[in-house]
Amino acid sequence: MKRAEGSFETLSRHEVPKEFREEHVLMGFRPVNRPLTYYLCTMFTMHNEVVNVWTHIIPFGLMLRVFLMIVKEDQELTKQNLSKDDQDSTSVGTGTTTESPNRTFYLFMCTVLAYLLVSALAHLMHSASKSVHYLAFYCDFATIAFYSFLSAVAFYVYSATPAFFARFNWCYVYVAWTLALSIPYACCFAKFKFTRPYPPEKKLYILGTIGTLYLWNIYPVVDRIANGDLQDNTYHYLHLAAFLSAVFFYSSGWPQKSFPGLCDHFFHGHQIFHVLIAITTYYQVLAIRYDMKNYVNDDSNSDKAKGSGNQRTDCWSEVSSLFAIHALFSLLVIRHFYKKIQKVLAEQKMQ
Ligand SMILES: [Zn+2]
Repeated sequence: MKRAEGSFETLSRHEVPKEFREEHVLMGFRPVNRPLTYYLCTMFTMHNEVVNVWTHIIPFGLMLRVFLMIVKEDQELTKQNLSKDDQDSTSVGTGTTTESPNRTFYLFMCTVLAYLLVSALAHLMHSASKSVHYLAFYCDFATIAFYSFLSAVAFYVYSATPAFFARFNWCYVYVAWTLALSIPYACCFAKFKFTRPYPPEKKLYILGTIGTLYLWNIYPVVDRIANGDLQDNTYHYLHLAAFLSAVFFYSSGWPQKSFPGLCDHFFHGHQIFHVLIAITTYYQVLAIRYDMKNYVNDDSNSDKAKGSGNQRTDCWSEVSSLFAIHALFSLLVIRHFYKKIQKVLAEQKMQ
């Protein structure tokens, strides 16, 4: 039975192409091949992707607010320091952090906003066609890789102990960058290669690359915990706990696996994963910001850093160039796999 073009009626899994069939989800699929405006409007209708959209749109709004508050706070701090220096012309200055605009942290915040927004858009728009479906999730993987790379850098720059910073100064950022480059390639490859129902290998490609970078990313924090040098920054523990819970819901397929059809609209594991990963990011931002204010600027830490021969920097010159190459590489990877999938889809049409 043909449905009216403007109708927001949803379909069962057997009425949509297999690329769109979620495991253990029976109902609530949107029709494919409608205009893009149709999918934008579905943000306000009930279907099995709407919770995935809102669970990243709401955190996007909240994180944007947090980011703007931080920028404002930094601007006021810089102003106060400038007027203090003007009043006291003999002042030699006590630090550099208030004079520099925390560029690495700001880039990290931009990647947070990018991954939340692109993920929400991918879930909202992917049903438009098979091509859009693949393109949307390729872009999603690319922004996850940007965020993972900058997460590692931010932990290293703002949360590592002075000794850790000095010991890994020659390689930390480069290792994180190399691991981050593997994410878009491996994830796009897995999305291209495996078709539904997905074999466990697909998750291995995704979790293997993102997980390896996460282990490197969290190394400075684990080292600090091991050194008993975490001060009162419990946000790091909250971030770790939320991340591990998120991984469980992403990889286990639970609860929908135990209750097929009952999680079609609410309480699907991917929705819970979205919420937990947003909480992870929120505590991560709070943890890093806390360290920027209370740990990096701590005089005893500055002294230790000087003593170790490697004064802490924001690594901006390396990070900005590596990030630019990373962005270009990701675009090329997306283009490569998009062309490949277009070819496959064209061949399918001919058959
Ligand atoms: Zn998602």
